[in-house]
Amino acid sequence: MKHVVYVVGHKNPDTDSVCSAIALAYLWNKWKETGKLNNMMKIDVEAKPAVQGDINAETRFVLGKFGFEVPEKLTDASGKKVVLIDHSEKGQSLDNIDKAEILAIIDHHKIGDITTPQPILFVNLPVGCTATVLKLLFDNTGIEIPKNVAGILLSSILSDTVVFKSPTTTELDKAVASDLAKKVGVTDLTKLGIEIKSKLSEIEGMTARQIIMRDFKDFTMAGKKVGIGQVELVDVEAVKPRIDEIYEELKKIKTEGKYHSIFLMLTDIIKEGTELVSVTDDPKIVEKAFGKKLEAKSVWLPKVMSRKKEVVPPLEKAFASK
Ligand code: MG
Ligand code: MG
Ligand code: MG
Repeated sequence: MKHVVYVVGHKNPDTDSVCSAIALAYLWNKWKETGKLNNMMKIDVEAKPAVQGDINAETRFVLGKFGFEVPEKLTDASGKKVVLIDHSEKGQSLDNIDKAEILAIIDHHKIGDITTPQPILFVNLPVGCTATVLKLLFDNTGIEIPKNVAGILLSSILSDTVVFKSPTTTELDKAVASDLAKKVGVTDLTKLGIEIKSKLSEIEGMTARQIIMRDFKDFTMAGKKVGIGQVELVDVEAVKPRIDEIYEELKKIKTEGKYHSIFLMLTDIIKEGTELVSVTDDPKIVEKAFGKKLEAKSVWLPKVMSRKKEVVPPLEKAFASK
């Protein structure tokens, strides 16, 4: 297995982290055929996509639609070569990431706490999706994107940008998506986008914990452990009858994981806003960050769609000013 590099997205995999891993593994193996990436890097190991955990219903739909298998599971990085996709935070990465050799990182988030002993291929753009970055890498190295790979890249962009409604969306994401759509033969991007996003709205049959953990990320803010989950819904009302149950489960997770604060964003992609369910040692943090008093279990934050752009930064600021 020495001559394998695992291409892997973050914990609690979403569509971008799975599909972009598959696409990069494809691109990497094309680079391998020539033995190098331009004249920058020797490429002599075979790439294999991997996932850190079970994939969600949305990703399953996308992989099925474009004819891809679910990648193999990998949780421990010890002694392995890896490429990290859609993250650069240790907390979101494989266990024992310090004992791995990281060959590349392709991402679109803030730079995390992973470091490397030597220069690597590290491409991070402040765009809406890792798939957008990947499309540029394909273009730049002159490798043709197969139709099915274009399909999963396009789906990732529609998913991560919430069909271009998220404030993380850039002109580049839109331009890349329209390029990919031509290749795939999709004319109505909104229709495909809503079809993809509606798969995650199906929370029936899921336990409160499954709903919370499906897209959950850990952060450290001013030395405090903070967890933030997000559920994107076509209609936030559908989850309202379960808010009490979700709140009780958040309390349990908070105690078990020794969190200072734990938040669940119930984001309505049609109404464009987020019901923020909050369990925190300091309810004032919510008011400080979002200008709204936390008087019940949750507050409605109009227009808020993005965890990384509209929830993490104001919370970090609020924690830092404590
Ligand atoms: Mg992601
Ligand atoms: Mg992403
Ligand atoms: Mg996301």
